[in-house]
Amino acid sequence: MIADDAAAVFRKQFGAEPAGLWAAPGRVNLIGEHTDYNEGFVLPFALPQRTIAAVGPAPAGEWTVTSTFEAEPVSFGVTQPGEVSGWAAYVAGVVWALQDAGYEVPGAQIAIASEVPLGSGLSSSAALESSVLTALIDLGGLDVPLEKRPSIAQRAENVYVGAPTGILDQSASIRCEEGKALFLDCRSYEVEQIPFDLAAEGLAILVINSNAPHQHVDGEYGARRKSCEDAARLLGVPALRDITGDQLDDALARLDDEVMRRRVRHIVTEDDRVLATVKLLHAGQVREIGPLLTASHASMRDDFEITVAQVDIAVETALAVGAYGARMTGGGFGGCVLALVDADKAAEVTAAVEEAYAKQGFTPPTAWTVTAGPGAGRL
Ligand code: ADP
Ligand code: MG
Repeated sequence: MIADDAAAVFRKQFGAEPAGLWAAPGRVNLIGEHTDYNEGFVLPFALPQRTIAAVGPAPAGEWTVTSTFEAEPVSFGVTQPGEVSGWAAYVAGVVWALQDAGYEVPGAQIAIASEVPLGSGLSSSAALESSVLTALIDLGGLDVPLEKRPSIAQRAENVYVGAPTGILDQSASIRCEEGKALFLDCRSYEVEQIPFDLAAEGLAILVINSNAPHQHVDGEYGARRKSCEDAARLLGVPALRDITGDQLDDALARLDDEVMRRRVRHIVTEDDRVLATVKLLHAGQVREIGPLLTASHASMRDDFEITVAQVDIAVETALAVGAYGARMTGGGFGGCVLALVDADKAAEVTAAVEEAYAKQGFTPPTAWTVTAGPGAGRL
């Protein structure tokens, strides 16, 4: 078990028992892609795959972190953004962001083990941040309200690590609940827990990791973000969230740039698809969300232009063998696809995608079914 791994690494590295084990999950976003930084809507759920932080006390102002994925532990004192780089920056960033928010962060020894695949769009970075954040809060007895935690973890990633991501990942890892999808308004940070019990319907979400190499992710992400922000400015609204579906045609008519029009169309229609998905889930019509998932994929492929051949083929193949809906999940340019399938069809869909990949000469995919797990907390 991954929790045992973290405890064992802690013992080996620090020669003592950890004071406790804290877990935070990776996530898949059911629908609502690139809408977070447009202050719109997202609907992630937590994966059963988690990152575990085994943590014990250390003298004030001293932190040491080690990971099963890394050869060397990293030690640091009180730092400013940029002073710790590489993977340990995610941890130093959490310490810094908590301090910057006015909290007295306890010194700590930290051992990390994770079963969230790194760099696959399942948010191993947020799982790492959230496990460490939750541990330090508990260890120090800090009074940090749950609704404030995601933005602290986000600042660790945005300001300290220097990755300009939205609030989706950290909110999912921290605020998701078992058996629920998290409907998050990325402007107000209000959340609603939406029933998402697939097993009761004989359904499953199949996650298919395309294993496609991520390319140009940072630059493309920045370009998409800038295009959305420029469009909001030209349209005279604080964020694209303020354009509703029935205002879309008017808004598009006011933009000269064809590429920018496509980017806007994705965001506005995607927000509407999230709202429609929430409505269906509330009504218990889980199968019926399939076409919305598939429409989301088409929008990411044609309008937002963030898919690659591997994910397009996984989606097409899943649909061809009977998935109710399928889409890429995560920021794009590789990463994972999710498909809504009858639970007893998951193996058939997996085999079909494997065959399609083999035919194309792609690196084989990795696929597994998931249920909605719990958010970050102490074990
Ligand atoms: P994603 O969040 O989609 O998995 P990112 O590029 O945002 O991809 O984050 C991956 C990075 O986070 C890794 O390259 C590594 O620096 C760091 N990371 C995540 N999990 C761990 C871990 N368990 N041990 C060490 N570093 C980790
Ligand atoms: Mg990440």
